[in-house]
Amino acid sequence: MKVLKFGGTSVGTPESLNCVKSIVENQPEPLIVTVSALGGITNRLIECGNRAEDADPVYHDIISQIRQRHFDVIKAVVAPDCQAQCREIVSKLIDELQLVCDAICLLRELTPRSSDLIVSYGERMSSVIVNHMINGSILRNSLDFIRTKQVYGKSVLDREQTSELIHEYFDQIAGEKIVIVPGFISRDSRGHISNLGRGGSDYTAAILAAELHASVLEIWTDVDGFMTADPRVVADAYVIDNLSFVEAMELCNFGAKVVYPPTIYPVFTANIPIIIKNTFNATHPGTLISEGGSGRGIVGVSAIADTCLLSLTGAPMEWNERMINSLSRNGVETLMPNGQCQCAIHASDSKRAMDILQSKFAEELASGAVKVELTNDLSAIAIIGAVTEQMVTNATEQFAAALNVCGIPVSYAPRQASPGALACLVPHSFLNQSLNAIHSSFIVTSK
Ligand code: ADP
Ligand code: ASP
Ligand code: MG
Repeated sequence: MKVLKFGGTSVGTPESLNCVKSIVENQPEPLIVTVSALGGITNRLIECGNRAEDADPVYHDIISQIRQRHFDVIKAVVAPDCQAQCREIVSKLIDELQLVCDAICLLRELTPRSSDLIVSYGERMSSVIVNHMINGSILRNSLDFIRTKQVYGKSVLDREQTSELIHEYFDQIAGEKIVIVPGFISRDSRGHISNLGRGGSDYTAAILAAELHASVLEIWTDVDGFMTADPRVVADAYVIDNLSFVEAMELCNFGAKVVYPPTIYPVFTANIPIIIKNTFNATHPGTLISEGGSGRGIVGVSAIADTCLLSLTGAPMEWNERMINSLSRNGVETLMPNGQCQCAIHASDSKRAMDILQSKFAEELASGAVKVELTNDLSAIAIIGAVTEQMVTNATEQFAAALNVCGIPVSYAPRQASPGALACLVPHSFLNQSLNAIHSSFIVTSK
């Protein structure tokens, strides 16, 4: 059995859906097919919720456009005798979305729970369409078997509950040839609709692959494979044929958006290979992520676009451990700590991080000699690969030099960010230029 996952662009238009249909229907073995919302729909749903909260009547137009787009797709890809049934199911979901948005508009309040409910409609509708489009498929709803729990105010997978439920649901349908599953969506322990985070359909597919011992997880997207950098930013980027799980994990953790970061872990521990493939160029072999590996030193360049530099200015070095521990124990990921009361954090964690330090160091801060400082609008850029000790020394110089030559200011010097990543901070406005400079220096020259 294989698990295939098709992202938003792959299920975005009638043309792309026809590619999906032919890829799926031509596979000889049993399949689980996980699908994202139609391309762009999740963003539209988020906008819809925000407009409803502001009582901006534009939300009605957005809902009409979402309805029309789904109806147009149904008309183009679903067999004529199945269209009425498919339209009816999708229509009911959109009517429900309309009711939810009307309630938000009346209340003028969009809560995290209602926002999660709104974004869930994307995958709930796309999976119904794909189910009606693919001959001989059945639909199973992730809301029944993917469970999340709250950790530090964030929704994360409840692996134990999910594992039990997946076996309960899938053991009964073991002989089915094609099972369609919506990605991304889940329920929490109280039964409310939640999700696995933006880009989370990859993770849904990986969890199913690991639990049900798939032979492979295929992630079908809009590029030929995992590339040495984001091809939208770095024109010279090229496809990497093979990556180890660890190399892929490092690249994803450092912002390579082609795979959602938590995806790799469940399949890595179950030793199930991942293949990244292009829905629009199905004959290209893509990238194999497995126990093997690239056999190369530096495999790629990636970036976390929105980061801040957090400093406990004036603090003695001995406070560093307390600072880093208080952040990480409270769910703030610290990137590249320098051992001197400074580290980078994700911009989305900045308020939380400031609050934590202000409360943990309240007494010390009261004297005025020490301050919590935040430098905003930075990006972390990294080279990823087998960063050996020797390389750290050489690469650090090469890294800084490559940026220097291009006149790019370095806000935080290059340092080892994890066992396989060497990173530095640059002003956000220099992100794309930096990625190109570092890619030319480390990847193009070594090709
Ligand atoms: P999907 O909708 O299929 O989930 P995503 O947009 O999430 O697709 O991921 C595919 C996109 O990831 C590509 O279009 C590409 O621009 C971007 N990307 C970023 N880094 C990389 C990389 N290293 N290799 C390939 N694609 C990358
Ligand atoms: N539709 C969701 C998103 O846009 C999940 C996904 O596509 O993987 O983030
Ligand atoms: Mg994605």
